[in-house]
Amino acid sequence: MIQGIGAAAGVAIGKAFVLPNWEWSLPDTQVNPVDLAKEFERLYEGIRTSKDEIEFIKREFREVVGPEESSIFDAHLAILDDPVFMSEIRGIIERQYKAAEVAVKEAIDHFVAMFDLLDDEYMKERAVDIKDVGNRLLKHLLGAPEVTLPSDTQPYILVAKELSPSQLAHLNPAYVLGIVTMMGGKTSHSSIMARALGIPLVAGLENKIITPIQTGDMLVLDGETGAVMLHPDESTVRDFTSRRAKQLKKREQLELLATVEAFTKDGVSLRLAGNISSVKELNMALKYGAEGVGLFRTEFLYMDRNTFPTEDEQFEVYKLVAEKVGKESVVIRTLDIGGDKHLDYFQLPEEQNPFLGYRAIRISLDRKDMFKTQMTAILRASHYGNVRMMFPMISSVEEVQAAKAVLEEVKSELDSRGIPYDRKLPVGIMIEVPAAVMIADLLAEEVDFFSIGTNDLVQYVLAVDRMNEQIAHMYHPYHPAVLRMIKMTVDAARSVGIDVSVCGEMAADERSLPLWLELGISVLSMSPQALLKVKHRTLNTLASEAREVAKLCFRNRTSSETEEQLSAFAGRSGITLGAGGDSKEKTS
Ligand code: PEP
Ligand code: MG
Repeated sequence: MIQGIGAAAGVAIGKAFVLPNWEWSLPDTQVNPVDLAKEFERLYEGIRTSKDEIEFIKREFREVVGPEESSIFDAHLAILDDPVFMSEIRGIIERQYKAAEVAVKEAIDHFVAMFDLLDDEYMKERAVDIKDVGNRLLKHLLGAPEVTLPSDTQPYILVAKELSPSQLAHLNPAYVLGIVTMMGGKTSHSSIMARALGIPLVAGLENKIITPIQTGDMLVLDGETGAVMLHPDESTVRDFTSRRAKQLKKREQLELLATVEAFTKDGVSLRLAGNISSVKELNMALKYGAEGVGLFRTEFLYMDRNTFPTEDEQFEVYKLVAEKVGKESVVIRTLDIGGDKHLDYFQLPEEQNPFLGYRAIRISLDRKDMFKTQMTAILRASHYGNVRMMFPMISSVEEVQAAKAVLEEVKSELDSRGIPYDRKLPVGIMIEVPAAVMIADLLAEEVDFFSIGTNDLVQYVLAVDRMNEQIAHMYHPYHPAVLRMIKMTVDAARSVGIDVSVCGEMAADERSLPLWLELGISVLSMSPQALLKVKHRTLNTLASEAREVAKLCFRNRTSSETEEQLSAFAGRSGITLGAGGDSKEKTS
């Protein structure tokens, strides 16, 4: 078994199709100085054709997976307009009299080598984009044929050194059972796109494979665990085949619950909302029965482009989401960049501790222009649905007051423009910094709702970086300190009478359900894929029993005791798919 990085979940079994290495080796062709103008014309023609082709792929891909994922190709178009990249190419032609294709190849090699030197996964991924666009341009300059993938044969597992977004966009998901790449990781564009297309993907196998994979070799892979096996024996194939069948069956059965309301066996009702970052994810959340959106991570609208999204661009997306969700609420969180999230066009400072640095509300309050544009778009969208606004990473009353003051300015500007908006738009904050927990009673007086962001709360309470694999074993959501902080937040909200929900990954872990039932939290927001399993758990749980277990958990001295008790309870409350307890069909 070879261990890679599980980058898009799912099991695949099939024969490999190995993508030929898309590298060009070119003779060092020179041009006559008198023909320079012609050489430039050839270059510009190649750029125009490449752009047309990228626009075409973008449109096609948009149909399949939606506007956010297809915007990856905006980044490709931007490379063809990038003044530094282009002047490097022009310089090589002009000063060294080299043919356009040689100049393009040298410029690609130069930038890729430069980005590869940087110790930054994100920049390394950008090198893949440059190579992808550069190779497209080379293809046109050389008049070479497209590297084609089989589409009329048996479905296959695609094996590639690295897979560019353009190549992925050409794939027909009906033929691609899974993908294995030597390079890349969870955050690479191809992984994001594979997840959107529902194709299992294992990345990062470079240096781990001893025998090279050949086209036609039998492979099995698990995109969840990152396990890949070459030439599996019969029993492994049987094992993976039955795992795949079970996965599909479980999924099918769970999907039957999409329209069932989430009630415990003894009638306690929960509202399960979706965490989304795109319209595509909203569609998935709605398909899986999400009751509204508990967290719209808007930063993804700002990524994979080369300028900030305009007020109108943002408004269109927020309005579409609000309208699609209808009467249920949509919590739109203002920009949360910094930490591990970057924008190509917005230079963040080099920081020793980015998660403790220039991030989220701190940036918004510092860049009021940007903040106001986003708030304006959210307010305008509030006229078309049940919209709420939420600020991330709040750590003081002053920050809330400052953000609310900006909101007031934006409201009066909209008034003077005569644009309608929801005058009672509820305003809330993420509770994800320990300081916010400790002053939750004071913060509760400033806002309409709290949403507990356990992903950050756990890392900040325990001082355990959520991105650091070396200390991942110390990242304990069930640590007594975390449980106490959650309880303090709920108590503070309750004493003032404001809503409180949970939107971190803990909400998606069905074992946590007893904790929410004991605390009286009735709104949970989670990734679309988690909705049905949490609903299923709810339908199979007796709240009265669950609360007894949670009472023990809140008294525990260690995380492991709580984890054991919650896991044992989840195991005990017997999963029998389809048994919906006292669940009621939704009438609407
Ligand atoms: C959280 O911190 O729990 C959260 C939901 O926000 P994000 O994961 O986007 O930081
Ligand atoms: Mg957070």
